[in-house]
Amino acid sequence: MKLKEFEGKKLFSLCGINASSGILVKSVEEIDSKLASEKVYVAKVQTLQGGRGKKGGVEVVNLLEKAKDFVQKWLGKEFGSEIVNEILFDEKVEIEKELYLGVLFDRSLNCPVLIVSLSGGVEIEELESDRPEAILKVPINYVEGLGDLVVAKVKEFVKDGLSESVVDELLEVVRKVYDCFVKYDLRMVEINPLVVDASGSLVAVDAVCVFDDDARFRWEKKLAEEGVEFGERTGLREASEREKRAALIDKDDYRGVAGKTFLDLPGDIALLTSGGGASMTIADTIIGLGGELANFTEYSGNPPREKVEKLTRIVLDRSGLSGLLIAGVVANFTDIKETLSGVLDVLVEVKPKFPIVIRRAGPNDVLAKEMMLLAARENGLDIHYYGEEISLSEAAVKIVELSKVYKAKRLESGD
Ligand code: GDP
Ligand code: MN
Repeated sequence: MKLKEFEGKKLFSLCGINASSGILVKSVEEIDSKLASEKVYVAKVQTLQGGRGKKGGVEVVNLLEKAKDFVQKWLGKEFGSEIVNEILFDEKVEIEKELYLGVLFDRSLNCPVLIVSLSGGVEIEELESDRPEAILKVPINYVEGLGDLVVAKVKEFVKDGLSESVVDELLEVVRKVYDCFVKYDLRMVEINPLVVDASGSLVAVDAVCVFDDDARFRWEKKLAEEGVEFGERTGLREASEREKRAALIDKDDYRGVAGKTFLDLPGDIALLTSGGGASMTIADTIIGLGGELANFTEYSGNPPREKVEKLTRIVLDRSGLSGLLIAGVVANFTDIKETLSGVLDVLVEVKPKFPIVIRRAGPNDVLAKEMMLLAARENGLDIHYYGEEISLSEAAVKIVELSKVYKAKRLESGD
């Protein structure tokens, strides 16, 4: 579970981490009573997504009128895919220097990694690619914790860029942040920027905290002991019609999974992928190639024909599609013929003109291929069928290329 900035700062206060003090506003009427007219604030939309600074969600306001303008501009409005329900008015901190400090659980290393940079701020992503040496990453042994060696590494990394007293304070903050990470079972904590203010003190100006949901019973109890409760996540986009329909497929039928994961997306390449990891990889590859997805979904665990049929119906229930990719890693026990029969039931009915790339292998794949190619001939479907001979990424390349050609042709013919 991810926290919004104002919630993260509440967690920081439990952990003794110094953060800028803010006033939370949920309506424009609260401005006059809650804000002081002589103070300068930084107004910030409270959302789960980051990068607010770059998208107009952070603004310095020196007059109550400006504060009201900001609230009117954002409250109840969409920011990315979220609705803004709260605005935080942070007392403006005078920034001498912006640092970056984070701890995140690295799945490939299987341990927490401490991340420190003297060049924090909104350009941190660019920094990562342009000057990776400006970011220190230290893996931490979970059993040993934040030992002297780790602290020494941080000290060595920052000592030339900060005064001695700030270095000492930073090492103190690093300890507190790591303790907070461990105590509350966080998967990630990020302070960007961690500011050196005009008086030379460190202040967390932003806070991103993500709890490990599997340890919910533990952190929820600890928070309750402190009298803190973070409620339901609000402001998230409501599920679309297609997403709601997809969610129903698994509801009354325990056999396999189809539609449990379904995301409506604005692009034109439809997906019917299998397996969580493979589906993600395929989606990433298509996006990396410049393709735009019309949906993300996943079916697996040998679902019966009728469940795949329902899912296919939803996937194709969209105008302007330029391609469909049906793909997954080699299945162990998902019956390829049975599942593709469900897809076919819809294809012969809808008879789409766009290209369809299939990359499937596993039980009954030979029969499945025969069935699909026969149906393609009989129904004029543009099916490109492959098995293990091509990789998932090659299948992604094929659908992106074919969809481009299809769109160009459609444009030419004015269809
Ligand atoms: P994000 O873009 O979603 O990460 O939002 P942040 O809370 O990090 O704010 C974006 C940027 O606004 C920061 O990197 C700072 O440069 C600036 N900012 C935020 N709060 C303050 C503040 O209190 N004082 C000053 N001077 N700048 C601030
Ligand atoms: Mn930030």
